[in-house]
Amino acid sequence: MRPAPSPFLPTSLAVASVACLAIVAAPAGAQSQAPAPGAEPAAPARTGPSARRSRPVVLVQAGHLSPGEPGYLAQTGASGNPFGGEAEFNRRVRNDMVRRLRRAGVDARPLAARVEPLGVGGATFVSIHHDSPGGAAMVGYAVTGGNENYYRGQGFGTGRSTPYPDSATHRTPATTVNSAVQRTSAATARRVAAALKRVRTRRAGARARFAGVIAQGTNRRINHFYGFYRTTAQSRVIVEVGAAPDDNRFLRRVGTISAALSRAVVADLRARRLL
Ligand SMILES: [Zn+2]
Repeated sequence: MRPAPSPFLPTSLAVASVACLAIVAAPAGAQSQAPAPGAEPAAPARTGPSARRSRPVVLVQAGHLSPGEPGYLAQTGASGNPFGGEAEFNRRVRNDMVRRLRRAGVDARPLAARVEPLGVGGATFVSIHHDSPGGAAMVGYAVTGGNENYYRGQGFGTGRSTPYPDSATHRTPATTVNSAVQRTSAATARRVAAALKRVRTRRAGARARFAGVIAQGTNRRINHFYGFYRTTAQSRVIVEVGAAPDDNRFLRRVGTISAALSRAVVADLRARRLL
C-alpha cells in the first residue's frame, strides 16, 4: 500500500469525490460463483479439511489500497482517520472481515484498489471506505444503466459517464450491471446499512451523519463506482463506514465495524441460500 498522498491531490470536495472511488475489474459473465481460475496474490488456500467446493466467494476490497486502478490512480483516499490515510483504515477492516468471513465458512478474498483478476466472479463484492471531512456514512449499490465514472486524468474533477478528452485509459472489458445484479445488490446494501446503523451509536463515537442506502440516481460517485464494473459478482456494494475526523472514535473500532459488516454479509448469503 502506498498511503502517500498524491502531490496533485485536489482540495476539499474534489478530494472527497476522488477519495472514495476505488478500482475493480471484471470480465463478462456475471453469475460466476466458483472461485475465478488463476491464483490471486492473497487467495486463501482451497485445500484441506475445511475446504468445501460450494463455499460462496466474497470479494472484500480495501478502497484506495495500492496497487491502484488505471484511470483512478490519483484517488488516494480521504485522510485524518486514527490510522492515517483512508487506505490503511480500509486495509484493517478488510483483513478483519476476511478472517471473520472465512471462519463463517465463506471463501473470502481480499482485494486492493486494482481488482484482480479483471472480471473476477463471486457471490458478493464489498468495497470498504470512509468519507472525507464533512461527509457521511452511507452504503451504495450497483445500478443498471450508465457506465463507470470517468474523471480527468487519473481521477480528478467530477465523475461522468463518458470519458473526458484527457481521461486516462481504463482497463477493459468493463463488466455490466443487469437488473438481477441491481436487485441483489440493493438487498445486500439494505442489510449492510442496517448492521452499520446498529453499531454507529454516539456512545461508540459516531458523530457524522448516516445517510443510509443511497438511492439510485442520487450519487453518481457511489452508484457508478468503478469497482462495480470490474467484477461479475452477483451482488456489489460499497460502504462508507463513516467520515473522518468526526467519526474518529468510532473508526478506531475496527473489530466492531468489521464484525457488523461481516454479520450482514453472512446473513445476506444465507438469505440468498448460498451459505
Ligand atoms: Zn474512499
